[in-house]
Amino acid sequence: MKKRLSCRAMGMNCDFVTRDESEQKIVQTIADHLKQSHKIELTEDLRTRANNLIRLEEA
Ligand SMILES: [Zn+2]
Repeated sequence: MKKRLSCRAMGMNCDFVTRDESEQKIVQTIADHLKQSHKIELTEDLRTRANNLIRLEEA
């Protein structure tokens, strides 16, 4: 089952959403996006937040 994490859920005014079956990959993708698009480094704090914000994709 796919999972999703939106950049908006991370507190950004942004429509970027990543979907994958692997939570590790989702966090990696959002980390790359935050760095490239928002110049934000993923701290341990943000990583924990990202992990808590991953949701199952609704069909
Ligand atoms: Zn974004």
